[in-house]
Amino acid sequence: MSDFAKLRKSMIRCQIEARGISDPLILNAFREVPREAFVDEGQRQSAYQDQPLPIEAGQTISQPYIVALMIEAAEISPGDVVLEVGSGSGYAAAVMSRIARAVIGIERQHDLVGSARERLHRLGYDNVMIVEGDGTRGWPEHAPFDAILAAAAGSHVPTPLIDQLSPGGRLVMPIGEPADVQDLIKVVKRHDGSLVEENLGGVRFVPLIGEEGWRED
Ligand code: SAH
Repeated sequence: MSDFAKLRKSMIRCQIEARGISDPLILNAFREVPREAFVDEGQRQSAYQDQPLPIEAGQTISQPYIVALMIEAAEISPGDVVLEVGSGSGYAAAVMSRIARAVIGIERQHDLVGSARERLHRLGYDNVMIVEGDGTRGWPEHAPFDAILAAAAGSHVPTPLIDQLSPGGRLVMPIGEPADVQDLIKVVKRHDGSLVEENLGGVRFVPLIGEEGWRED
């Protein structure tokens, strides 16, 4: 086994399973995706540490456990069509693509769109599509979505995302001030269209910037 494969195995055991995530679909998805391929060359040795890491454009690749927690909360299942707002390096989208039928990732930073596409193509993840734009508007062309995840913290849940959720769909996103601890929120759209909201606890994410998010400084 390569050094990275060993580090990946121990990351899954110590950071994800040890914190109570046991769904074999989620653990297997993490086993399949080489996180070292989603960070800058100089960060490869740190790829399996229990923390977010810097990527291009001043953004971050989320901590593996937080990605796992969001996938579990969003109840991503085989057959699902998933929207990720803030696809960044493409790592979380790649992990979700090992479970879901299709993943659409939206990213507003042009450079990140290009590098994520290139990586996902090289690794052969052909059920992930990365599009460029403001994810607070969702992506109506491929709606409705069984699950929507946002990897950046918003001021509120954007209305277009609720509109683009399927009946029975789940949305998971951090809500709160950029410099502060935010609340990870789960919203379920019931089959009668009503919404149920749950607070999953404190998290820290980069800001969601857009029409229905924070303003750029
Ligand atoms: N899931 C990513 C984490 C990226 S960090 C990964 O696995 O690497 C969050 C990303 O959200 C950043 O890249 C940021 O540019 C992006 N972002 C912020 N606001 C956005 C918006 N309105 N639409 C699309 N992307 C946005």
